[in-house]
Amino acid sequence: MKSDAQLREPMSSAEINLAEYSRAITNILEDFTEERDRLNDTQTAVLNILDDFMGEKAALEDTKKAALNILDDFSAEKDRLEETQKAVLNILDDFDTEKSKVEATNRELLKEVDERRMAEHALTEKGLALTRSNADLEQFAYVASHDLQEPLRMVSSYVQLLARRYEGQIDEQADKYVRYAVEGATRMQALIGGLLEYSRVARQTEEPVRVSAEAALERALYNLRAVAEETGTLVTRAALPDVLADPAQLAQVFQNLVSNAIKFRRPEAPSRIHVDCKRRGPDFQFSVADNGIGIEARYADRIFVIFQRLHTRNEYPGTGIGLAICKKVVERNGGQIWVESSPGTGSTFHFTLRAAEGPW
Ligand code: ADP
Repeated sequence: MKSDAQLREPMSSAEINLAEYSRAITNILEDFTEERDRLNDTQTAVLNILDDFMGEKAALEDTKKAALNILDDFSAEKDRLEETQKAVLNILDDFDTEKSKVEATNRELLKEVDERRMAEHALTEKGLALTRSNADLEQFAYVASHDLQEPLRMVSSYVQLLARRYEGQIDEQADKYVRYAVEGATRMQALIGGLLEYSRVARQTEEPVRVSAEAALERALYNLRAVAEETGTLVTRAALPDVLADPAQLAQVFQNLVSNAIKFRRPEAPSRIHVDCKRRGPDFQFSVADNGIGIEARYADRIFVIFQRLHTRNEYPGTGIGLAICKKVVERNGGQIWVESSPGTGSTFHFTLRAAEGPW
């Protein structure tokens, strides 16, 4: 059997051209198909790139959003910082005002300190002048009382002589006058004697020595034994230590306090006196307590002033010097003296003295 080509007639030139065209067209179509496939590939690649680009864009947008958030935060932070800065500036402003106030106060204070220093200086000067004039007065009191003693003794002796010799010989009136003169002279002797004793204590310059307060009290009680017995007074006491003082003067202090405790007793109650002592740091605090008439609180300081008394001589005899002497003695030895009392409940006189070194 013949094939189509063997069977077919040889082609004409027109048929040849057509075949060539058709081949060419087929070729073109093939090329075109290839081109189209490439284009498809390219498109796919472009789409992929676009996809990637979109992903990138979304990531960029996220980044942008994050950046914007950060900027937002940053701006909030900036606002806060600005607020803080404003607050700090305000504080600095306040601080400035406060500083100027403090500076002004400081200046005031310095002025005050200056004024105070000047006042202190003036006070020290006055104090010194007072000490000098006090010493002058004490010297005067000593000289006056010492020198007055002699003429007074003479006056006293002669009025007493007058009384003895001429009593009942002139008239009653004359007897009365002479009696008054004798009483006046005796009283004046007591006052001058007290004043002399007071100024002797004030003038004394010896340093205090170790003294047995026990022995000083013994001595005082011995001197007062007659009046104590007469009045039925009972004195109790604690053991007393050694202190720094003058022996005779310490005995005098105890004697003045105990004799006052006896003198200012209540008529209805026999006198009960207790002498005690307590350690107070470097000092000892002594106390003499009684169950007598007591003292009003407002007189607590006054009674230590020389010649100050709260009663008339008819009620209770005395010169008003005893407690002033006690104060002088105690203060000369660096101590203090005071009273705790109220009317009707008795009085407790306290005084302090420096303890002597060593056990007691
Ligand atoms: P005098 O005893 O000579 O009057 P003082 O100086 O000893 O002088 O006492 C002053 C005054 O203090 C006394 O007059 C008296 O009024 C009051 N006084 C002193 N001691 C006591 C006491 N123990 N109880 C009540 N009053 C007292």
